[in-house]
Amino acid sequence: MKTQSLLENISTIYKRMSHAAMRAERNPEDVKLIAVTKTVSAERIKEAIDAGLRIFGENRVQEATAKIEELLKLSTADYRLPTISWHLIGHLQRNKAKIAVQLFDLIHSLDSIGLAKELNKHAEKTGKIQDVLIEIKLSHEETKHGVLKEELMELLKTVNNMKNLNLRGLMTIPPFFDDPEDTRPYFRQLRELKDKAEAMGFNLPELSMGMSNDFEVAIEEGATMVRIGTAIFGQRKR
Ligand SMILES: *Cc1c(COP(=O)(O)O)cnc(C)c1O
Repeated sequence: MKTQSLLENISTIYKRMSHAAMRAERNPEDVKLIAVTKTVSAERIKEAIDAGLRIFGENRVQEATAKIEELLKLSTADYRLPTISWHLIGHLQRNKAKIAVQLFDLIHSLDSIGLAKELNKHAEKTGKIQDVLIEIKLSHEETKHGVLKEELMELLKTVNNMKNLNLRGLMTIPPFFDDPEDTRPYFRQLRELKDKAEAMGFNLPELSMGMSNDFEVAIEEGATMVRIGTAIFGQRKR
């Protein structure tokens, strides 16, 4: 895996993404690849940028801050760093909301009214309209974050009424299964929740679901963003 080139990995993933989209009679262009760079060095992220990737996902604010700064330093007279979009895909603590608003174009992990208020407050201060996804917890694993299905409606209404938050859709992290087919019911549930909310008048174009092991199934079930780390950068050490 390590010796395999990033370019090869990325082109394989794009092929698999398009095939999955076509199987579901979807347009491959409607699915975005979010390259997940937690534990990946800035140097290696630069390689991925040079390979053409433009959207990166981090799951911790602190780690992201350090890397974004490091990458910006690479911009010199001879090398101009292209515009990168950073997404926060991991759990966000309220006390980091301010930095998150500064760093991320899209926050996938909005999971409480308290956090929504905090994000809205900081976005308002800087005049930013912060794009967000609501993270939903569809399983009963203690370790997972996200709102429960039963709490979704209230959070949708609250976020929709906040001037500086722009609700873009839903996100979920299903339990891990060796067989990706076992995750299909979770992806389908998320899409059904989106359909239900849209029928009630909410606009939720994005579905963030699917990782290295199961992104094809997620695309077949309607994912518009897949979050892929291992299949691009290789196995993480921690
Ligand atoms: C790490 C992570 C991913 C990527 O997982 P891989 O299996 O390495 O593709 C996707 N989403 C979230 C929220 C993650 O934390």
